Formats: sequence, structure tokens, C-alpha cells
Amino acid sequence: MRVLVVDDSLTMRRVIKNLLAKIGITDVVEASDGLEALEVLEQTDGIELILTDWNMPNMTGTEFVEKVRSDAKYDNIPIIMVTTNASKSDIIRAIGAGVNNYIAKPFTPETIKEKIEQTMARFKKA
Ligand SMILES: [Mg+2]
Repeated sequence: MRVLVVDDSLTMRRVIKNLLAKIGITDVVEASDGLEALEVLEQTDGIELILTDWNMPNMTGTEFVEKVRSDAKYDNIPIIMVTTNASKSDIIRAIGAGVNNYIAKPFTPETIKEKIEQTMARFKKA
């Protein structure tokens, strides 16, 4: 499974990549903000899941998600928001933008595994 990881923190991208590797996901493409992520999405075939941060320069996670959700060709790609913004109103805003699931930082390897499995299962059924 090819996953796009979007985060302005190189360290966080490494952490997420390492966790994904532990659950058998090694095909990872990266972007450091929403703008770059849109380019990567456009130029990379076969992305099946997006994990995106919220707070990033140039284009935030929610702006990125809104852009992705406004393009029907990405309708089959679930998006998980991985963020420290974890208040109820934040979550509602992110879901409103088109996010399919939510992971609050800091998170455990178990959490990321569970959320990915949950998201992919729900998405396939829908
Ligand atoms: Mg950030």
C-alpha cells in the first residue's frame, strides 16, 4: 500500500515512516506542506492513503484536505489527520473539511495501526 505522509516536521515524518514500516507499510511518499502534497499527489500513481498534519506553512492540513476533496479523482483516497489539534471543535472542523479519521499526537504504534485498519475497512465498505 502506497501512503502519502504530509508533515512540515522532518522528525515527525521519520517517526511516522518508522511506525508504518513496523506494520508492513514501506511504500511511503512525503511532502512538507499542503502545496507540495498536492504536487506529489498529482505526480504519483497509486496513493491509497494520506496521513496529514494540520499545522504547516504555505498550506495547512485542512486547506489541503479541502483541495483534495474538491477533486473527484481523489474520491477513493481516505485521509487521516495526525495532529496536536485534538479539541472537539478541531475534530469537527477537520471532518467538515473531508478527513476520514483522526489521530492525536503524541500517538502509539498501536493507535496508528488501529486507525489505519479502521479507516481502510470503513472506506472499502462505503
Ligand atoms: Mg506541523
